[in-house]
Amino acid sequence: MKKKNASIFSLLQSLINAYGPCGQEEEVKHLCAKELKPLTDELWTDAAGNLIGKLNGQNPSAPAIRLLVHMDEISMIVKKINEDGSLRVNPLGGAYPASFGQGPVDILGDHQTVSGILSFGSMHTTKESASTNKIMPKEFKGEGLAPFWDQVYLTTRQTPKELDKAGVHPGTRVVIARSRRALHYFQDCIAGYFLDNRAALAIMIETVRKIKKRKQLPFSDIYVAATCMEEIGGHGACYASRTLPGDITLAIDVGPVAKEYQTVLSPDPIIVYKDAYSIYDKKLSDYLVTLGKKLKLHPQRAVFETYGSDASITQSIGQCAKAALICFPVENTHGYEIAHQDSLESCIDLLFTYLYQPMF
Ligand SMILES: [Zn+2]
Repeated sequence: MKKKNASIFSLLQSLINAYGPCGQEEEVKHLCAKELKPLTDELWTDAAGNLIGKLNGQNPSAPAIRLLVHMDEISMIVKKINEDGSLRVNPLGGAYPASFGQGPVDILGDHQTVSGILSFGSMHTTKESASTNKIMPKEFKGEGLAPFWDQVYLTTRQTPKELDKAGVHPGTRVVIARSRRALHYFQDCIAGYFLDNRAALAIMIETVRKIKKRKQLPFSDIYVAATCMEEIGGHGACYASRTLPGDITLAIDVGPVAKEYQTVLSPDPIIVYKDAYSIYDKKLSDYLVTLGKKLKLHPQRAVFETYGSDASITQSIGQCAKAALICFPVENTHGYEIAHQDSLESCIDLLFTYLYQPMF
């Protein structure tokens, strides 16, 4: 087991331990606020629930830069409480039940957190067990099909009355249990749930810490926003981009590793030129690649499909003039995610350098 740069990984582990389902990001926000408070000139929560920090720049008249990183995680929401106390859930964000697998979840009741298990049902069944048999039909000889949300349920071992007392109802958020949130270190990589986007929060916080340590103001004012509800459509970022000053919206997020995108699992950041929502500013993206090369990195360039970020989503609805996206490469996005251990540091270097030598 290898573990470089222990302090960033210990920050990352605490960020992953904190719960942050869409629209209920308080735990993560609290942690980010604690970290950012001594590092920023102003810090507040806006009306949409985004945490905003301001760093004063050397040139207050230069356009401000908005740096957006989402706090929320892929999670679930209770749709229905079944008569036997099991729960039917829907995803919050793009995930399949197989991305989480069977295992412990925490049901965040209004009065009490209830432990449950994401279940697909027993495998040793026949066609009498309609739902499991659809997933694991005998004729497939053990190969089966990936279940969808209407074929899985949460086992709670509670009655509907007990669940009601705990404050569990349609709308209650469900998250992967704390016991499944330990980062796994192997060879040159780290792996775990919610590197998307806790690793980017760690990158943002460590970049701001580096700016503070340098004791030289960045070029222009910077607004760092830890945003909410990205996974269901960038709702928090849209509000932040509409209400904060500045023309450039720069997001940090996971970059899917796939042959079709020519992206590899390496320390090198990915600069994204297009995704399903918008095109990123070409001059700015080219500039980020050039800066990366000066830092002896080998930035990857990519065009993603079936992907959106806080920057491209806000640009697509006219809330930012220019968008850019820096990604750290991730395998198994929206599942048990893997990143290169050095990729966080590479993104910090690139971002830090950009904020002192920005291009508008
Ligand atoms: Zn993300």
